[in-house]
Amino acid sequence: MIGRGNPRNTPPCDNRNHVRRNAPVSHCPKCGEVVNDELEARNCTEEEHGTARRRQNPFCCHCGMRLLATA
Ligand SMILES: [Zn+2]
Ligand SMILES: [Zn+2]
Repeated sequence: MIGRGNPRNTPPCDNRNHVRRNAPVSHCPKCGEVVNDELEARNCTEEEHGTARRRQNPFCCHCGMRLLATA
């Protein structure tokens, strides 16, 4: 078996973190879903969220908070 996840559990977006077995971040920066529940959600600073916004990440990859308003 290859670690591509449960076929019934289709990744919510095409971010590579969804198909990785050990994603380096706890949340997907694109859709905000948890990609690695072994990493604890952490308390981010406004500065970190500001950096993520400048990278055009709709969600914070550390805490899963929505950073950009989506249409
Ligand atoms: Zn995603
Ligand atoms: Zn955060």
